[in-house]
Amino acid sequence: MQHLKRLTFGAMLSIFSVQLLAAQSPITDDQKHTATQLMQTAIKSDLGMEIVTSLTTEIGPRLGGSEAEKRARDWGLKLGQDLGFDKAWIEEFTMPFWDRGHLHISLTSPYQQDLYGTALGGAAPTKESINADVVYFRDIHALKAVKDNSLNGKIAFVDGDMMVKSQTGAGYGQANQRRRIGWQHAERGGASALVVRSVGSDSHRFPHSGMMSSEGDKWANIPVIAISNPDADHLRRLHNLDKPLTISLHSESKWKGDVSSGNVILDLVGSEKPEEIVLIGGHLDSWDLGTGAVDDGAGIAITTAAAALIAKLPKRPKRTIRVVMFGAEEVGLLGAFAYAKQHEANLKNHVVATESDFGAQTIWQLVSNVNPKATVLMDDIAKILSPLGIIRGGSDVPGGGPDIIPLAAKGVPTIRLSQNGRDYFDLHHTPDDTLDKINPDELAQNIAAYAASIYLIADSDVELKP
Ligand SMILES: [Zn+2]
Repeated sequence: MQHLKRLTFGAMLSIFSVQLLAAQSPITDDQKHTATQLMQTAIKSDLGMEIVTSLTTEIGPRLGGSEAEKRARDWGLKLGQDLGFDKAWIEEFTMPFWDRGHLHISLTSPYQQDLYGTALGGAAPTKESINADVVYFRDIHALKAVKDNSLNGKIAFVDGDMMVKSQTGAGYGQANQRRRIGWQHAERGGASALVVRSVGSDSHRFPHSGMMSSEGDKWANIPVIAISNPDADHLRRLHNLDKPLTISLHSESKWKGDVSSGNVILDLVGSEKPEEIVLIGGHLDSWDLGTGAVDDGAGIAITTAAAALIAKLPKRPKRTIRVVMFGAEEVGLLGAFAYAKQHEANLKNHVVATESDFGAQTIWQLVSNVNPKATVLMDDIAKILSPLGIIRGGSDVPGGGPDIIPLAAKGVPTIRLSQNGRDYFDLHHTPDDTLDKINPDELAQNIAAYAASIYLIADSDVELKP
């Protein structure tokens, strides 16, 4: 079973030629041939799996700003040097460090039962242990309607619904509201703490962590804890039975002052237009509960391996291919904003940008948001990717990944190779985000798609900027 898919992709690549390209295709026969060869090599290569295995095993969890994240930067730099990139360097930045610390949370009435929870990023510690009555809110909208100071001395619990699994991850943005801004309303209501249903699509007793949103410069003054979906179901049932609920809580999570983080940057310098940059990447940091295999060791492996395969071609593509391993993404896109600031004067030379940050299940479509005159190039790239099972999606779909947001806001065009996200929110930000969840064949398909499409864009003369 393990290599069945890989054999299927390989057979498709050799048996079927790609769909006919446009009569006036901007892609030459030589480029098409090279792209197909890159896909064939990628399908057979274990490089991506070796990279994500090394990162998750030798470095482990890598919370933004931690000592582990620094070890990951050193690892990324050495990897780039070993894989034959022309330039490899680290750009550091300063950030405030939030540490999870120890948590204990349990139901104390109507009976004693431990709950499986985790602090949300940015949450305050308990000053001393809390044991308080719970006020139930069906969803974030109910909590938003809470009257000022009506929750004094109480713990607010905001329920919601489990996310429905989907290919696109639809519904995450809405479900995420309780995690992002729930604390602002709980605090206004005077609550001693906020407990929220995890944002995830799994029914395991793993809590999903994640960052809250600040309100201007202000972060929560109360502890904020996400509990697993089955624990939230349990509280809902007890509430529906009209049982008075109390929860006991002790949390040590807190801010610990400024620390260093950084982005690792690896360049394959273009042979004809080195100043023009095709930017790909993933984020090097992870949440600390698992080992960040799916989020986002996979993205680091996919983009680095794709570029490393292009590095083995006899000649560099015309434009520079840049892999950015962004730091401190989970804790607020801090590496992304640092990159956009540091390279502000040069963003006009960024031809296109995309990040892989949605796991490593099979890529199923290519979407773009580039100059309409470059649509034919994107259409023809999708045709070349079609033996991998990839279709052409919209030509005006914004969003190249979270770390690309600050670049896109400054006018950098984006593309996206969309992974199937059905399992993503089962694992996302949980202790269950570990290496065994990555299928080597699906990872290889991702790398094949990235290698071919990034090569074709980097070796093209087509202008992608509007
Ligand atoms: Zn991520």
